[in-house]
Amino acid sequence: MPQDERTACGQAGGSVVRYLDEFGDPAAAERLLAHVRATATRRWSIMEVCGGQTHTIVRHGIDALLAEQVRLVHGPGCPVCVTPLEIIDRAVTLAARPEVTFCSFGDMLRVPGSTGDLFGVKARGGDVRVVYSPLDAVALARSEPDRQVVFFAIGFETTAPAVAMAVQVAARAGLGNFSVLVSHVRVPPAIEAVLRAPGCGVQGFLAAGHVCTVMGTAEYEPIVARHRVPIVVTGFEPLDVLEGIRRVVCQLEEGRAELDNAYPRAVSPEGNPAARAALAEVFEVCDRTWRGIGTIPRSGLQLAPAYARFDAATRFGVEGAGAVESSRCRAGEVLQGLISPPECEAFGTDCTPAHPLGAPMVSAEGACAAYHRYRRREGPVRSPS
Ligand code: SF4
Repeated sequence: MPQDERTACGQAGGSVVRYLDEFGDPAAAERLLAHVRATATRRWSIMEVCGGQTHTIVRHGIDALLAEQVRLVHGPGCPVCVTPLEIIDRAVTLAARPEVTFCSFGDMLRVPGSTGDLFGVKARGGDVRVVYSPLDAVALARSEPDRQVVFFAIGFETTAPAVAMAVQVAARAGLGNFSVLVSHVRVPPAIEAVLRAPGCGVQGFLAAGHVCTVMGTAEYEPIVARHRVPIVVTGFEPLDVLEGIRRVVCQLEEGRAELDNAYPRAVSPEGNPAARAALAEVFEVCDRTWRGIGTIPRSGLQLAPAYARFDAATRFGVEGAGAVESSRCRAGEVLQGLISPPECEAFGTDCTPAHPLGAPMVSAEGACAAYHRYRRREGPVRSPS
């Protein structure tokens, strides 16, 4: 390939997406695909961090379209999938208590713990409710003062600010019957863990745009510098993902390792200051266990001492019981990009969305669910070479 074609990286993405119907424009997609194909001189391994990006890639066959140029590795950015079994078990125990109204986002209800799931508690008469915001749970606590209302606070830096705000609202209102079961996780330490894992072959990252909308981009600069790895902040539509891939491939071909923002319509370097302030006031950084992966230092958020009275695990005395994962579920390998979902022996047979063995088959952002929904029994996309 002529050098002048390979170094045209700054110009070829070209199209700026402004309107909804442009996000999937076939002509623009073809231009981006053509540029990646013309630029890549070898096959590069790129990890998309977020499960939402995984679904876009699998749904639109982006991995198949670029199979010869890029190996897309699915990352650990599915909040439901990485919530540890031990926390699911605590949630099930809490939800079964007669005085508790347990509130959760809907996709947590079918995630299997070692002693069942929240749907099972609900079926047995437990007061388990699906809410769309932590503030719904605060409103419930206000309207039902005789009930202990617990919100299941899981997810990344995207959902944590709303939980922080709910705790602040509950504190200002003096609500003694509201608490949160916290299992929040942070993306940057997970990227570091992937890079430090033995045998890691990931050469570049698509960072999760929505996380950066909240947190900004500064946290990724040290990772880029330490590991000499390109990180491109990327959105979720097909053209967003293609543009992110294009920019990573350009950097790799030119021997550059930089932090780049390909999602400027939503992400600024400083993120959302109000959301970050709420996070800093209500939470503090802690070590966190990721389901199937293990403990990652400083990868979680827990309530800061000033708000520790809202911690449901402490209030009700439910501590971890050392739960053991199903030996058949290979979610840890899927979440670290070590295998593709169809390589799990249970995929599509003993593990389906109706009868999941592991969380990645349950969640709307889970890689196993994406393959089952869009690709069924087909194997991972491989280079023909
Ligand atoms: S297919 Fe099911 S059993 Fe296999 S890794 Fe995915 S969630 Fe676990």
